[in-house]
Amino acid sequence: MPDTPTFQNYIGGQWVDAASGQTFESRNPAKQSDLVGHFPQSGAEDVARAVEAAEKAFDAWRLTPAPKRGEILKRVGDIMTERKSEIAHAMTREMGKPHFETKGDVQEAIDTAYYAMTMGRQLFGHTVPSEMTNKFNMTVRRPIGVCGLITAWNFPVAVPTWKMFPAILSGNTVVFKPSEDAPHSGMLLVQVMEDAGVPPGVVNLIQGAGAAGQAIVDHPDVAALSFTGSSETGAKIAGDAARRHARISLEMGGKNPAIVMEDADLDLAMEGLIWGAYGTTGQRCTATSRLIVHEDVHDELVERVQAKAAELRLGYGNDAGVDVGPLINQKALDKVSGYMDVAREDGATIAMGGERATGDGLDDGFFFQPTLLTGVTRDMRVAREEIFGPVLSVIKIKSFDEAIEVANDVQYGLSSALYTADISRAFRALRDVDAGITYINGPTIGAEAHMSFGGVKATGNGHREGGWEVYDFYTETKTCYIDFSGGLQRAQIDNYDD
Ligand code: NAD
Repeated sequence: MPDTPTFQNYIGGQWVDAASGQTFESRNPAKQSDLVGHFPQSGAEDVARAVEAAEKAFDAWRLTPAPKRGEILKRVGDIMTERKSEIAHAMTREMGKPHFETKGDVQEAIDTAYYAMTMGRQLFGHTVPSEMTNKFNMTVRRPIGVCGLITAWNFPVAVPTWKMFPAILSGNTVVFKPSEDAPHSGMLLVQVMEDAGVPPGVVNLIQGAGAAGQAIVDHPDVAALSFTGSSETGAKIAGDAARRHARISLEMGGKNPAIVMEDADLDLAMEGLIWGAYGTTGQRCTATSRLIVHEDVHDELVERVQAKAAELRLGYGNDAGVDVGPLINQKALDKVSGYMDVAREDGATIAMGGERATGDGLDDGFFFQPTLLTGVTRDMRVAREEIFGPVLSVIKIKSFDEAIEVANDVQYGLSSALYTADISRAFRALRDVDAGITYINGPTIGAEAHMSFGGVKATGNGHREGGWEVYDFYTETKTCYIDFSGGLQRAQIDNYDD
């Protein structure tokens, strides 16, 4: 189609095609006939050029005072504020979640930009007394070098900015590869960086599939890697990174539980479950995928969730009144549909949904009905594996202790929620649930940009994004000793008699 745009990579401040000249398509998952554009199918050669450009830019950028780097991030936030609705519209067209959600995605990026600006004036080290006389001890932060950023498609602007903004604020330069399912959103983000005056080479964009990501992982001059995606891909690239001693931060899958106890406000719980399980079509790493509910309120809550879920309007997210968009692609549709067979075989009941959604303008998209599985037990695959779709598995429990045990009985540990009126239970959940995030009387989703974000077990590898903690990932600590005694002072020796 002659009027379909062809987009490019951004390397060293220039928009360029892939070395191979090959491209791939991005299509609207709600209307497959709507072609968003053609994007470069990049490979190792493109990555090598981008890394070279990032290395070249590193020295001048690391020597730019951090508050100055922060001023550029302020401009980034200002431009994103101006373009918020426009960028959100493009994101919805490309990855499907409704416009009100993609606006939230851009807002999170704006918040992250302004937070990064303030960090330009507070990249603190520590000043600590020395054990010797006339000696001064402190730590300072140094940037690491070239950082490779590889992201998933479901938060195609917010999640890349969780990585890119702290990375460049700290004085690093980056090579960013968005998901092949959201290349246009990644491109719009990089365009903002260019327009805000980020110097050439500081942010480089490489479009493409897993092979382009793998080339970033394998490049010997990429000093740090930050990855958001599936636990399978994360495990593979963590091994590759370890072999060449690269620093790596991993944010991966989830199987997030919401516990609802018999003393909970059921209206509140129902609202949180609808938003947590069916918002973003269940395609959030923090989506509520398990409802662990006390037997005394099980039937009533299931009934209420079912009634409310039936009111959700599916459709193209840029149309007014749409609550839930499509799944991202055919593979996701096949995966979620396949889990319906798994649920039946394992003995669960499909109490609601369970089918591809069709009719009413949905046939050209990857829509799936909001689904509720009841009679689920903790050993079933639908209680243990990440489905990444609008599917809520309901597990009945008899006590709070059992609820915690079931909540922890999965390989993942990202987000979690507890609905209760009992303050003791609330604090026990904060202490005992194995997850990076616990919400009390709120859904499993709702991260704020200035708070730490990340998970335990198969969800993460100990690092956090968001807030102040992410700056520890993007900086190296240098320990500095300044001896002004004028003589040799041997620590642990000269300051002890024997
Ligand atoms: P994915 O693992 O298939 O892909 C993620 C990214 O990795 C893409 O850019 C992809 O091109 C790239 N990639 C694939 N193979 C690679 C390789 N061998 N080397 C380097 N890069 C490679 O994941 P997805 O399907 O895009 O995203 C969904 C997953 O992401 C879910 O599991 C979800 O829970 C997770 N996720 C986690 C978080 C979090 O913060 N914990 C946030 C969003 C999504």
